[in-house]
Amino acid sequence: MSSSTGTTSILQYTPIDEIPKIREHLKATYNSGRLRPLEYRKQQLLRLIHLVEDNYARFEEPFKADLGRHTLEVTAGELNGIVMELMYLHDNFETWAQPQKPGFNLKFWAFGPVIKRVSKGVVLVVGPFNFPLLLTLSFLGAAIATGNACVIKMSELTPNVSAALTELLPKYLDQDLFRIVNGGIPETTAVLQLQWDHIVFTGSPSVARIVAAAAAKHLTPTTLELGGQCPVFCDPKMDMYLTARRLLWSKSLNAGQTCTVVNHIFVPYEAQDALAKAFVQVYNEFFPEGPEKAPISTLATDAAFKRIKELLEKTKGEVVCGGHELFGPILPIVPVKDFQDAIDWTNSHSHPLAVYAFTDDPNFKEYVFNNTHSGQFVVNDTNIQATIPTLPFGGVGESGYGMVKGQYIFDTLSHLRATCESPRFLDMIMGWRFPPYTDAKIKQAAALKPRVPPLNPGWGSTLRGWMPF
Ligand code: NAD
Repeated sequence: MSSSTGTTSILQYTPIDEIPKIREHLKATYNSGRLRPLEYRKQQLLRLIHLVEDNYARFEEPFKADLGRHTLEVTAGELNGIVMELMYLHDNFETWAQPQKPGFNLKFWAFGPVIKRVSKGVVLVVGPFNFPLLLTLSFLGAAIATGNACVIKMSELTPNVSAALTELLPKYLDQDLFRIVNGGIPETTAVLQLQWDHIVFTGSPSVARIVAAAAAKHLTPTTLELGGQCPVFCDPKMDMYLTARRLLWSKSLNAGQTCTVVNHIFVPYEAQDALAKAFVQVYNEFFPEGPEKAPISTLATDAAFKRIKELLEKTKGEVVCGGHELFGPILPIVPVKDFQDAIDWTNSHSHPLAVYAFTDDPNFKEYVFNNTHSGQFVVNDTNIQATIPTLPFGGVGESGYGMVKGQYIFDTLSHLRATCESPRFLDMIMGWRFPPYTDAKIKQAAALKPRVPPLNPGWGSTLRGWMPF
């Protein structure tokens, strides 16, 4: 057995030849129908919630060791988030799982059409390092609620958190249905060679391409939660203190290692000094003794630190606060002549996961919303959208595809199986469909076709609008 190279790590990587056996075992249990009853799903989901609820203290040290996380960020930023997410599923999934009648349509009413949300099989969840539990356990919870077996592949960059979860999971969940695979690239490559019934991947666009290509070999549907490049459009009339406070929080949270973190701020030239001044004020309030002494998270890898350091060394801009110590995150302020330049620049690059507007002006909000593309659009805050369970969460273009959270992840991991039942009397009405085909039958078939309105509506179309069919 190989293990992670982390000095404090106790993580054992999953032997590569074990991986296909794990998947086969889970598939066999799934096929047995053990997870079909909603009560069993609910019981397993509640046990998963308790895995988190009972172990706040147990997870604290691993998060500190892997990511230098402060207790507040471990609890509020990760564990509370999982409990909220899973409780929302727990309280609602039985309603969502009910068969649903589609909208009434007189022509097809007799078929009794019904949509049944059914499970897909065995789901693979591949997680990133930055929210190692949130972005695996919330999807595991959704797999349970939808009646799927599930394998989660944790990031090798958080070996202590992964080791803690590996120890705890068998104590809470049915091991015939829910398992962890640990490892780096060789193990993930082995996992990806297998056939899965859905893959939820959270990570970088470059690895997402590897995942999507592997999934394509089995025609496996994938949900790709990627991220980055989120711009802020800052109205010069906006309260700069509020803006700086919320944006510096975004950059401090998990040392700026969140998918919805602000990448850069567009602000008109005339307002950039006021914004920079507000940042200095907030920076001193957040870190009165300097960031070295502040209990903030660290960058996960030496490579990430080196990249951030090089960016700072190469910048032609002025560093207005910080930037000379182990404080990795960078928040560039990009002055613009007018916002159209910023919009054009944004639209000529990959679609961001989120676009943020800081403004109290409804016209400004609408202008930014209507002229950009992104997974989410948020006014006067950042990151917060990811905590609202009733909203869909997902990217567009380079920021990913597929929807997660609440009912959206429930639908993502369900197959909407269309069902209908043909009545015996149908052949009296639709006898024309059977050979031998005749001109008379072609005319009868045409009766089913909906009327198409003319391109230039006149009195005729108004009259037709009053007709019931
Ligand atoms: P990553 O893409 O490097 O790794 C993600 C997973 O892929 C890990 O489990 C890793 O083991 C595996 N992996 C890495 N290289 C691989 C390879 N060559 N072949 C197969 N598997 C491989 O991502 P990361 O650095 O762990 O996470 C940060 C990224 O995740 C950022 O881009 C961030 O924007 C994104 N992210 C997105 C969301 C979202 O919800 N949209 C949330 C969090 C993070």
